[in-house]
Amino acid sequence: MDDTPASNFLQTIISEDLASGRVATVVTRFPPEPNGFLHIGHAKSISVNFGLAEANGGRCNLRFDDTNPEKESTVFTEAIEADVRWLGYQWDGEVRYASSYFQQFYDWAVHLVEQGNAYVCDLNADEAREYRGTLTEPGRNSPYRERSVAENLDLLARMKAGEFAEGARVLRAKIDMRSPNINMRDPILYRIRKAAHHQTGTEWSIYPTYDFAHGQEDAIEGVTHSICTLEFEDHRPLYDWFLDHLPVPSRPRQYEFGRLNPSYTVTSKRKLKQLVDEGVVGGWDDPRMPTISGMRRRGYPAAAIRRFCDMIGTTRSDGVVDVAMLEFAIREDLNENAARGMCVLNPLKVVLTDYPEGKVETLGAPRHPNRADLGERELPFTREIYIDADDFREEANKKYKRLVLGSRVRLRNAYVIEADEVIRNERGDITEIRAHTIADTLGENPADGVKPRGVIHWVSVSEGRTAEVRLYERLFNHASPDRGDNAFLDHINPESLSVVQQAWIEPALADAVPEQQFQFEREGYFVADRYDHSVEKPVFNKTIGLRDTWVDG
Ligand code: ATP
Ligand code: MG
Repeated sequence: MDDTPASNFLQTIISEDLASGRVATVVTRFPPEPNGFLHIGHAKSISVNFGLAEANGGRCNLRFDDTNPEKESTVFTEAIEADVRWLGYQWDGEVRYASSYFQQFYDWAVHLVEQGNAYVCDLNADEAREYRGTLTEPGRNSPYRERSVAENLDLLARMKAGEFAEGARVLRAKIDMRSPNINMRDPILYRIRKAAHHQTGTEWSIYPTYDFAHGQEDAIEGVTHSICTLEFEDHRPLYDWFLDHLPVPSRPRQYEFGRLNPSYTVTSKRKLKQLVDEGVVGGWDDPRMPTISGMRRRGYPAAAIRRFCDMIGTTRSDGVVDVAMLEFAIREDLNENAARGMCVLNPLKVVLTDYPEGKVETLGAPRHPNRADLGERELPFTREIYIDADDFREEANKKYKRLVLGSRVRLRNAYVIEADEVIRNERGDITEIRAHTIADTLGENPADGVKPRGVIHWVSVSEGRTAEVRLYERLFNHASPDRGDNAFLDHINPESLSVVQQAWIEPALADAVPEQQFQFEREGYFVADRYDHSVEKPVFNKTIGLRDTWVDG
């Protein structure tokens, strides 16, 4: 991969660990829970974990942290695998599943019970909360804390056998109910859950908690640097406690970095799911979603997302990153790589009265102003063309660089024309413009020295094709849609999607393959829709607008 990973505190730790010999080979992992699609925040985590492994000659695992059967499914595992690959990363070996270690976790739970370090507790949820204490008050020992090892082993086996109802009992570690860190107040290791699991079916009726699973998963896989986000910092003592009290095969260490929170974006899976479930968007991969699949469908290049993740750095503070930085990376990539084409979104017909009826002149145009390697396209020119209705005015001052009655404009990659007359319908709306071409202006300025006002795009009426064009804007119209008291659904941008059913495209654009990216000149960057586009029925999604008003490239 061409991206050079920026130096950061994690790289410093790894360099020291390699230099001191604490670790021989760096092993990281990306551990999503398969309960939703991955989003831009996960892209950051992927880029950190895979990037550090790659930069240090190590390995990175993809591991599904699937300890929560009710909310998980193979729809999500499949989408996650596809997203990681699309971003340009390959995990080491097979995909791994926390669920494939369930027996090992259980054996280790038995070990803790045997050592007097875990017990079965019968407090219900409300009682347990009351015993737990608060940030300012210590907790109290559960009345079940001093059960004998034999009784605990028996109850745990019967929990596993499915003898008890959900919520009737839990297995807890015996640590310290007076610890200032609430995570250390006899945390839960196992809950009873009579739910089928997408990988293990109905084999288990108890499931481990995140805390009891994560560090042990890392240890089983030989992960050296277990990198997660800052909200797990307070869990690190517990992560270490389990490793200290279990006969684990290796000793991973946890490191935390700040979550990525782009402005104008929601990155909570729960909220993204709500947008999907309530039909606010068309699905997890709706082009307005900050999911990796959504950004892909929107036309964001994978390389630009990786570039953005590098650009913002990796630190130990949770800040909001301006979404404009992501947009900058997208534009920079597409400006460099997207082929140019012309598309008229709001067509107004222009009849060139001096140009022969039925004549089709094939003009050539570069696909990219400074990428000769992308070649040329054929551009048919005819007597009747469409221009954008916004590119014409009957009268305008000098600042208006488009077509005006009695003055000239250049048609992009074609002739200079001059507008002579407007035709109206009975309601008085302009339905057509009559104009004429200026002789010998293909690639030349007019011989009489009268310059065109500017350059506009166009499409031949008889040779052009129609396309559906989906215009996307930001999904939220508030910079922090879900911070503080904000109800994020109140900040949905009502104009986040508008569809142009019949835009006109130059014929070469209809040949696009799904996911091919373009700059529609003067309009922005667009992508042929991954699912709906075909040569017969072209469909394009707007990726993002141009940086400024158009600069002739
Ligand atoms: P949510 O809280 O929305 O459910 P999550 O963090 O629980 O998301 P996981 O599937 O557990 O989602 O995340 C997998 C990995 O991605 C974790 O290591 C997590 O720390 C990391 N991650 C999730 N969100 C972000 C983010 N916004 N920025 C950076 N890393 C993230
Ligand atoms: Mg999580």
